Amino acid sequence: MEYNFKDGLDFAKELDEKDDLKEYRNHFYLKEDEIYMDGNSLGLASKEGEKSLLKMLDIWKEEAIKIWNIENGKYHQYSKHIAKKMAPLVGANENEVVITGSTTSNIHQAISTFYKPTKERYKILVDDLNFASDRYAVDSQIRIHGLKVEDAVKVVKSDDGKYINEDKIIEAMTEDVSLILLPTILYRSSQILDMKRLTEEAHKRNIIIGFDLCHAIGAIEIDFSDIKPDFAVWCTYKYLSGGPGSIAGLYINEKHFEKLPGMAGWYGNKLETQFQLKQEFDHQEDASGWQIGTPSLFSMAPLDGVLDIFNEIGMKKIREKSLKLTAYFMYLVDNKLSKYGYKIDNPREDRKRGGHICLTHNKAYQISVALRDLGVIPDFREPNVIRIAPIALYNTFEEVYKVVEILEKIAAEKIYEEYSEIRKTVI
Ligand SMILES: *Cc1c(COP(=O)(O)O)cnc(C)c1O
Repeated sequence: MEYNFKDGLDFAKELDEKDDLKEYRNHFYLKEDEIYMDGNSLGLASKEGEKSLLKMLDIWKEEAIKIWNIENGKYHQYSKHIAKKMAPLVGANENEVVITGSTTSNIHQAISTFYKPTKERYKILVDDLNFASDRYAVDSQIRIHGLKVEDAVKVVKSDDGKYINEDKIIEAMTEDVSLILLPTILYRSSQILDMKRLTEEAHKRNIIIGFDLCHAIGAIEIDFSDIKPDFAVWCTYKYLSGGPGSIAGLYINEKHFEKLPGMAGWYGNKLETQFQLKQEFDHQEDASGWQIGTPSLFSMAPLDGVLDIFNEIGMKKIREKSLKLTAYFMYLVDNKLSKYGYKIDNPREDRKRGGHICLTHNKAYQISVALRDLGVIPDFREPNVIRIAPIALYNTFEEVYKVVEILEKIAAEKIYEEYSEIRKTVI
């Protein structure tokens, strides 16, 4: 999309004036003297999320064990309650979504459910730019089957260390591939993979395919009723602002409901017979059947509140604003920062660009530490990436403008030289 941006703080303020979503910023806990650009790592707390969390605490105080019975078993089946609010964000039926575990444990759950290696078909296809935890899960699932990682994991390599070529993924879908796990948006370069095309190609070859939506959920529109992957996983603490370590999402396409979960537990048992506590597992044949143990109510409660904001606005508008924020950032970088060695290393096309900007610089680490001291929270990813995520629900165009000004100051005055290149553990 063409925007006709202009330079100058006044223009940024004008963009904020015209922003339909500007009021939503008041629903989040922002700090006056800080510009938060890290909502893709840990989303800010919302007032709605706080309210639903505190309400959960009150219910525990009041009801104790009765918590499981009140309101028609709402809290016993709390995943279902949240899944109803989550499903529109991925275009799924609510019974295809379960809120359970963490992203990584859900990858284990999905692979242990779908990966049934045979002599001929035993490989898992992955890329080499996905988040490391996904790969650890894949490798350990291969080992559980007594196979060798070197033999059974097929890796599609990036040509440039930034992007993955979809044609190469499709070429790698050979007859020995049993299952594919891919990211929807690459966490470093922000590239969006074409889930529809990849799913169609995988299914033509009878290969199971699943996606990790961690950097896509709450950032872009997703329609699984059209894409129809076999499974998907996502965390809820990044764009969704569910809170640190909030419970993750798992999508199981309805055509697989009768399959047994790879890792079963009593919360995946049919509701009617769960408390009979029989020794034989009686699988609930929808996504909730992939739950394992008792739901973590406090780690789900903030989602109950914050997802109402997402549904009130709808992902279409959220995505529109996000694209405009990142386009504006790119425009300013091109105009003001290129001469200092900053480079945009994410796709420029709307269709291919996720919710964050991948800004590179050979002093990226020191710049990211300097940014923090100057009141901007970005994050840094090895070796030279500063990720900047202007979040549609709470960041402003003025903030984007100010971040660019601060980046300019750090480079022009060589402020980064005051900082050590030695890494701290989390940044
Ligand atoms: C954030 C992220 C994770 C995190 O996994 P957890 O199990 O929630 O710690 C995994 N994969 C990707 C692609 C991520 O972006």
